[in-house]
Amino acid sequence: MNVDDLFEPQHRKQLLLKHGRERAVANRHPWIFTGAIARESGPADAAIADLVDDHGVVLGSGLYSTHSQIRLRALTFGEEHFTAQLLRDRIAAAIARRASLLDGETNAVRLVHAEGDDLSGLVVDRYNDVAVVEIANQGLERLKPLVLETLQRELSPRLVFFKNDLPARRLEQLPLEAEWSGAGEPVAAISESGLRFAVEPAEGQKTGFFLDQRENRRIARALAAGKRVLNLFSYSGAFGVYAAAGGATAVANVDVSQAAIDLARTNHDLNGTMDKASFVVADAFGYVRGRAADGERFDLVVCDPPAFAKSRSEVDRAARGYKDINLYALRLVAPGGMLMTFSCSGHMSLDLFQKVIFSAALDAGRRVSFLRRLTPGVDHPVSLFCPEGEYLKGFLLQVV
Ligand code: SAH
Repeated sequence: MNVDDLFEPQHRKQLLLKHGRERAVANRHPWIFTGAIARESGPADAAIADLVDDHGVVLGSGLYSTHSQIRLRALTFGEEHFTAQLLRDRIAAAIARRASLLDGETNAVRLVHAEGDDLSGLVVDRYNDVAVVEIANQGLERLKPLVLETLQRELSPRLVFFKNDLPARRLEQLPLEAEWSGAGEPVAAISESGLRFAVEPAEGQKTGFFLDQRENRRIARALAAGKRVLNLFSYSGAFGVYAAAGGATAVANVDVSQAAIDLARTNHDLNGTMDKASFVVADAFGYVRGRAADGERFDLVVCDPPAFAKSRSEVDRAARGYKDINLYALRLVAPGGMLMTFSCSGHMSLDLFQKVIFSAALDAGRRVSFLRRLTPGVDHPVSLFCPEGEYLKGFLLQVV
């Protein structure tokens, strides 16, 4: 079947909204859960569904799933009709909104950020001539040809790579093997802020590179002159490369993964900053204890761990992890130095993260001030109607 046909009335599901569930829909939240649906009708293999009231009035439309608790990812509400063209236009508009971020110095950005671009279920990152796609929904998986065709038309990439490894895909019972369309290997050489990085979407973490930290890496570069820098949870070494480029005297990259450290080495090499860089494959929790016991000090510490809380029930344990690593990170900051610290757990609120840092500072016996709050770059928008999309938060701290 042609993808456009999936939008025809006879191929769409009708989902009848339960009484008492009008609020979520009126608030334009894109996630319509199974519990909000009284009855379903229409073909079992629908990609698209319309949410209707008792009178058959369409309240919203979007991407359907038979397996997820999120039965419908609503992309339109009320009058607006959900068509294939609307989906194409949304993707093209998201791409167009990033135009000002791409210049001679930067050719890698997040092009589509799910709910933040009114495209729940879809993430697209551009790495120079490669587009990496993550699809988190069964209905959208069926519309993959539409996504591919739109990206090809808008970007003319060498390769479109569907990574297909999101945990949500398991719930949606979708295949987990990567697929790609185009020429050559699924690797990219990108420029970011005039620096060079190797990106391997197939092997790398997430889609291959943490684009969300671009603006914070620029801050690190601006602060780094003459400083000894510690880059904890370094992954590709990106913060370390920026710091070295900004004139740091020494940069230590620490990651538990050998593959990550190999990548960090490649990236320092690409930027001619090997002479300032060191590389440690180690558990950061043990590493910071060892350095602190040795009385070692750094002028700028970056602490960007993976999400410690993957679900709400893990928040307490995660908070203890964040406190522990930040306590030692603060001890490692030389008097008058700085700490850039992050949490990318969506379940960890900004307020709780601040309390955790407060408690780490008390235990470390250091006087700490906020210089700035740190957020993802503007290519990672958060929908006002779906605050769950907010995940990365951080602080730039002055440590006396
Ligand atoms: N700051 C990076 C992104 C960090 S992602 C950037 O800007 O690109 C988190 C990293 O933490 C991953 O590379 C992962 O391998 C590493 N990691 C996870 N657990 C760790 C641990 N206990 N000790 C050290 N590194 C760890």
